[in-house]
Amino acid sequence: MSDYDVIVVGAGNAAQAAANSAREQGAEQVLVLEKAPEADRGGNTHFSGGMMRIAYGEAEALRPLLPGVEDELPGFFEDVPTYTEDEMMADLMRVTAGKTDQTLAKTLISKSYETICWLHEYGGIPMEPAISLTGIRVGNRVKWQKGGIIRAEHEGVGLSNSWFAKSEANGITIRYGVGATALLQDEDGNVVGVEVNNGETLEEITAPAVVLGCGGFEANAQMRAQYLGAPWDHAKVRGTAHNQGDGLRMALEIGALPWGQWSGRHSTPISNEWPDFADRERTDRSNRLSFPYSVMINRLGLRFLDEGEDMGMYTYAKYGGRILNEPGALAWQIFDQQTVHLLEPRYSTSDPITANTLADLVEHLDVDDKPQALRTLEAYNAAAPSRGANDGFDPTQKDGLSTSGLSPEKTNWATRLDQPPFLAYSATGGVTFTFGALKIDEDARVIGTDWRPIRGLFACGEMVGGLFHFNYPGGTGLVSGAVFGRIAGASAARKAAE
Ligand SMILES: Cc1cc2nc3c(=O)[nH]c(=O)nc-3n(C[C@H](O)[C@H](O)[C@H](O)COP(=O)(O)OP(=O)(O)OC[C@H]3O[C@@H](n4cnc5c(N)ncnc54)[C@H](O)[C@@H]3O)c2cc1C
Repeated sequence: MSDYDVIVVGAGNAAQAAANSAREQGAEQVLVLEKAPEADRGGNTHFSGGMMRIAYGEAEALRPLLPGVEDELPGFFEDVPTYTEDEMMADLMRVTAGKTDQTLAKTLISKSYETICWLHEYGGIPMEPAISLTGIRVGNRVKWQKGGIIRAEHEGVGLSNSWFAKSEANGITIRYGVGATALLQDEDGNVVGVEVNNGETLEEITAPAVVLGCGGFEANAQMRAQYLGAPWDHAKVRGTAHNQGDGLRMALEIGALPWGQWSGRHSTPISNEWPDFADRERTDRSNRLSFPYSVMINRLGLRFLDEGEDMGMYTYAKYGGRILNEPGALAWQIFDQQTVHLLEPRYSTSDPITANTLADLVEHLDVDDKPQALRTLEAYNAAAPSRGANDGFDPTQKDGLSTSGLSPEKTNWATRLDQPPFLAYSATGGVTFTFGALKIDEDARVIGTDWRPIRGLFACGEMVGGLFHFNYPGGTGLVSGAVFGRIAGASAARKAAE
């Protein structure tokens, strides 16, 4: 007789989706293990912006998720563009250079809408429009970027709190400060439970089904150095300090198959003033994602990437890494008064360096070669379209307003820096989560190095490998966690009922 029907390791979005799905599908005794103390619960989910990218098709399909939205945003459903499964697949394929695992991607995308409706209805998670992330006000209307329209109310904090409330209401046992340290197997190789460290002693807890939803290795400097290489051991961590790769280590120890891009990670431009681990109160407000409207220079005073390569939601997850690899892992994002109104509200957590001339601005920046910095900004201005051409400036889509003759060019939103005062914000690369993880099948069963399922073991969330390579379309992590968490929970409940 086992202690529980299903044990879920972790207490973020994926794990809680799994635990509640298991309950919904008939598992009576479900245990959630949260390694963090209660005050630090919820993993990266707590820190997240709560945004969810789903293939909703027509905007009207969002009405059940956002019933009162037109009170706040009149004309919302006319303003939101369609977003089909084909478009979401095209986005995922484009940003991952075609390397996304096709089976997982199809499952993710085809179940994205129905799963978020389940999250809302069964999980009791209220939603709101993600206006500060993907909406741009034009007059009294809002222009939306396709796909990432909704987020959990009160962002990741709201999402996490709602999940804990649902789990408690669903009779799920949650143990805080209890981390899984090893998977238990019987003599036939079935996973039959976990060994845990409860802070005082090691304990064995048994169940016929174990779901791993305990994150990647992003908070572990040694594993970052090992798999991502230098300088990732120095990256600031954007989320929880508790995702140390425990689940991956435990699964690999019993022969799980590593899958996906183990050298890959999600990392974003964040304020260089931020601490090494994220601040639980300010959550994701370190992000500095308005860079498409900026000119970015490094400590050598040089531009080093195309700030306007694509809409920010399709470049932000790779540009953190680009900045981290620059000298001193530092860049400056420079704006003038033409674009300053476009800065995300999150910029208000920093005081920018300001000046009335570019020469004065670079004097105040932490760059090693100030004359070069000024030459770079002047060369940028000379290569940007003349003022009249700025009439074509359109922050709501790729506007083709490009510099000419620079290396690299800025290929969209290349307005001149000529309207003082100028503002400079610091940026470094913050690591969000890691891409390398485990191979699972469509039932979220963990596959072994013998290419057979490891009986009794399931995985979800950041522990699923293969979906993301090089880059990531904003808002996909939480939806992946929900989709594969729900599947893992249902599969675990079935296993427990055998
Ligand atoms: C600042 C920030 C902003 C983000 N914004 C967004 C966004 O807007 N939209 C989006 O889609 N994604 C976003 N993400 C990514 C998103 O947060 C993650 O993809 C998602 O939360 C991962 O969910 P998860 O359940 O797999 O892991 P987590 O939420 O990280 O949960 C892992 C859990 O496992 C626990 N744990 C770890 N080890 C053990 C162990 N040995 N035993 C027991 N428990 C253990 C942890 O304490 C934690 O509870 C953001 C991430 C960050 C950091």
